[in-house]
Amino acid sequence: MRPFLSYTGGDLDRADRFRKVPGWVEERLADPSTLIVPVWRDRHLVDEAIVTHPLRDVPSSELVFLGMRDGVPIFAADLSPLDEAAARELAGGGAFVELRTAVHSVSAADAALLAYARGILHWHRNHQFCGRCGSPSRSERAGHMRVCTSCGLEMFPVTSPAVIMLVERRRPDGTRACLMARHAALARGVWSTIAGFVEPGESLEETVAREAMEETAIRIGATHYRGSQPWPFPASLMLGFRAEAESDEITIDREELEDARWFTKEELNRFGEWESDAEYRLPRRDSIARLLIEEWRSEQ
Ligand SMILES: [Zn+2]
Repeated sequence: MRPFLSYTGGDLDRADRFRKVPGWVEERLADPSTLIVPVWRDRHLVDEAIVTHPLRDVPSSELVFLGMRDGVPIFAADLSPLDEAAARELAGGGAFVELRTAVHSVSAADAALLAYARGILHWHRNHQFCGRCGSPSRSERAGHMRVCTSCGLEMFPVTSPAVIMLVERRRPDGTRACLMARHAALARGVWSTIAGFVEPGESLEETVAREAMEETAIRIGATHYRGSQPWPFPASLMLGFRAEAESDEITIDREELEDARWFTKEELNRFGEWESDAEYRLPRRDSIARLLIEEWRSEQ
């Protein structure tokens, strides 16, 4: 069975049709049944991730309409300007936690909802000013657009595409190996697939080939798209590929990687979980890297 990708599987109707209706947001916020996702500095409440507290202190212009669930509107509120105690009090208690550490304690639909809330609020926080003339911008369309108050430039939520690929080498004797790398930023002992951001003027296949060449000097042949994952950590969309290696010898870019090696399926099967203290460890279960690895090692 294909493993499930965390942060996908949301159940919201994004209801774009309501975003431009004058007065609709204010009307929904006055209704006590309207739901709010409080977010504080990229963190969420998980015991009660979605609350009905009215959050009267948050101006309606700062709220983002996420969508409808079972006919009930859900908004996201950014409490980041407050200190943690004030944010907790306003949200009705509980602790704000990092989504990746809490992903397995909420439903798949709620994990997708929280990722969406985190991603769009991050965009708002980082686009308070116009990129063209530097004047303040204001939120429009229920939080799905910002407009410069001076020159009128329209800005829409930005997602940066990044490719992530399991590079496979089929050797003449029929054995298969996959390329795993150690990034310095990863926890000790954790190996993962290679990845990188798409640059302007590049196709996804070209990014896969360039990143593999830059980081490991491996030449890529055919690439096969495997799936995508929202990755609001802080603002990416991960595009997963299987890529066929056409060369074998690895030369590591030491600025990017600590190490990179070929591993057989048998070797990968001896890796420990991310949380373990094994010498070699797999990426976290919520990542598309892990899905690509699970898919590969389940074959044959
Ligand atoms: Zn401007």
